[in-house]
Amino acid sequence: MAIATINPATGETIKTFEPLKDVEIAAKLDLAGQAFEQYRRTNFSQRSHWLQKAAEILEQEKADFAKLMTLEMGKPFKAAIAEVEKCALVCRYYAEHAPSFLADVPVKTDASHSVVRYQPLGVILAVMPWNFPFWQVFRFAAPTLMAGNVGLLKHASNVPQCALAIEDILQRAGFPQGVFQTLLIGAAKVADLMADDRVKAATLTGSEPAGASLAAVSGKQLKKTVLELGGSDPFIVLASADIEAAVATATTARMLNNGQSCIAAKRFIVEDAIADKFEKLLLEKFAALKVGDPMQPDTNIGPLATPDILQELDQQVQNAVKTGGKVLIGGHPLAGRPGNFYPPTIIIDIPIDTPIAREEFFGPVALLFRIPDIDAAIKLANDTPFGLGASAWTTNDQERDRLIEEIEAGAVFINDMVKSDPRLPFGGIKRSGYGRELSIQGLHEFVNVKSVWVK
Ligand code: NAP
Repeated sequence: MAIATINPATGETIKTFEPLKDVEIAAKLDLAGQAFEQYRRTNFSQRSHWLQKAAEILEQEKADFAKLMTLEMGKPFKAAIAEVEKCALVCRYYAEHAPSFLADVPVKTDASHSVVRYQPLGVILAVMPWNFPFWQVFRFAAPTLMAGNVGLLKHASNVPQCALAIEDILQRAGFPQGVFQTLLIGAAKVADLMADDRVKAATLTGSEPAGASLAAVSGKQLKKTVLELGGSDPFIVLASADIEAAVATATTARMLNNGQSCIAAKRFIVEDAIADKFEKLLLEKFAALKVGDPMQPDTNIGPLATPDILQELDQQVQNAVKTGGKVLIGGHPLAGRPGNFYPPTIIIDIPIDTPIAREEFFGPVALLFRIPDIDAAIKLANDTPFGLGASAWTTNDQERDRLIEEIEAGAVFINDMVKSDPRLPFGGIKRSGYGRELSIQGLHEFVNVKSVWVK
């Protein structure tokens, strides 16, 4: 895949980039290794200061960064602004909390003094996706840099300018040379990086095949990985739910980021008793959404990030129809205009035992299933290879407790949409990956948890 900025709203190639040559990659690895030896000796207050400064830069220049994201991957400008603000938030969160999360933990033992100490591992590689081009990187960078590690970013090939902008922000914030570097390289170079002694661990956010490939090479090298992969998150609405609130949130939860979010609600599982009403209201909401130029403030849905994603989504929709699905709205790419535009789409009546019912639809397509009761809802929710997040709607306490207990996922949100929050761990189970980002758990993924015993 070429490393290039191609405007998904027009198809125009704006800028192309030469991938780094092997000798340039080697120089950056050298620099990262040397930077770590110095950087690990900096103290928390210096690191916090640099991260706070990064937060200030993000806030001061948010319109520029948001424009870059919208240009490269098509998210609505308003959403891109919110993303930059969230990056500032995660920087401030770790600047404030990492020192206590990483402080020695005294443990009472037979020793005269024993503690658990958290120490940095070294150079950490981040392989990142285009869908939240700033957020995905900052939620890795903020904890990693606070822990005293240094970062190498291999960003998705369609967001090179975002990747370079992030490196520039962290440099201007004051982080020493080499502490955070962007590598403009293709995916094929990742295996070589993992084989390099200086790279100690890696995190990847992206598709299942990419995750499996990184896990395989890392396994061979015996290096730790964190994988944040796909999802086919259920959105369960039981008869006792506040239906209007559920429908409004369902629309946001499906359409976020033009439908290209790992934690977007993808399978809507609705109890028979209220299914007609839910379907009618959801159809009205979808019909009212405006698809178009992502720079315009009244646009709800911009283009999909690449022509391949558009084609793949279209193919999945056609497969769903072939297996018995019925399209209520949308169902084909928008014709007669350049760009990768796909309209809001609802598909009903897909047989629940077909493979397509379990797939991840990465775009503005909602699959609607009807179920007789909570038992069937939980069974269908769990009948997927993924386990990232789940949203469930009920006003009944017993139902709520069962949903929390029995849904197989890294997160369950009751009466709200699934979202990431720096204060809570984020990640999945099953084929959605392993390990956690954010919160104290995310910070502890890339540290040596050292037991210290003094007699
Ligand atoms: P992708 O094709 O897997 O790309 C993600 C990153 O991995 C890119 O930097 C890509 O580089 C790289 N990559 C691709 N194949 C690789 C390989 N064999 N070895 C090493 N690196 C490789 O995924 P995407 O299409 O950009 O993103 C969509 C997927 O990401 C969806 O499934 C979505 O659910 C998931 N996602 C998950 C989360 C989460 O937190 N769980 C968040 C966002 C997205 P190139 O661009 O150069 O190919």
